[in-house]
Amino acid sequence: MGYKRFKISDDITLIQETGVANFMRCNIWHIKGNSFDLVIDTGMGLDPLKQWIMRDTNRPIKAVVTHSHFDHSGCLHEFDVRMGHKAESDVLANPSGSTTVFDGAWTRIAIVDLDQHPDFTADTYSVKAAPLTHYIDEGDVIDLGNRVFQILHLPGHSPGSIGLWDIKNKTLFSGDALYDGELLDSLYHSDKLVYMRTLERIEVLGVNVFHAGHYPSFGPERMRKIIADYRNGENSLGDVEQWFDSNRSRLGNIFADQDWRGLVKKQ
Ligand SMILES: [Zn+2]
Repeated sequence: MGYKRFKISDDITLIQETGVANFMRCNIWHIKGNSFDLVIDTGMGLDPLKQWIMRDTNRPIKAVVTHSHFDHSGCLHEFDVRMGHKAESDVLANPSGSTTVFDGAWTRIAIVDLDQHPDFTADTYSVKAAPLTHYIDEGDVIDLGNRVFQILHLPGHSPGSIGLWDIKNKTLFSGDALYDGELLDSLYHSDKLVYMRTLERIEVLGVNVFHAGHYPSFGPERMRKIIADYRNGENSLGDVEQWFDSNRSRLGNIFADQDWRGLVKKQ
């Protein structure tokens, strides 16, 4: 149970929940600032996150949620400052299994390792209400002193998906708008046309490093391939259960630390 920490640079740490299937586990980003720290996304909420992060910093922590899905918003309620897009605010304030997209396939696939989380059941799991304290939208700026993020509204996967764009370092924290895996564009509030427009926008932003909502970070060459495959209809995830069944043997031990690059369709 708990979390693992991977230091990416002096001020960027990747945090991952343990005991969650590696294709489902969201990337939690801890950015250390001069006056306060930022946490981007908060995992499923299986274990307390804030107090675990506080062992690694002495500054106040503000949380940003890239969107309201259960794998990103589970520990948001622990933070006093909760920033996100207005279009996700209703789900975050009144989360349910269906609105956070936990219901359905994810309740039928064992995405949580019961050896590590013996109390977990799909029937009793829920995301706690975490009303946003601050709305952030296109053009807003979060200034950590040592790093400045511009907020990008990147809808499609969900209506209020956002990205955090560090233009100076050409680094985009892209949430689920773009990650190195099959993109989910047929959820109840997804919009494929809007998603495509978001991808076209990302394609020409000039990003050098993508720190995404899932799977490993990547660069512009890989970005072009992911988007080209999506455009050709080869990189979207329709029926989750069917995807899981057809990839079951390839996925191996889904709770082990693995080279994720073997888990997703490659060039
Ligand atoms: Zn999502």
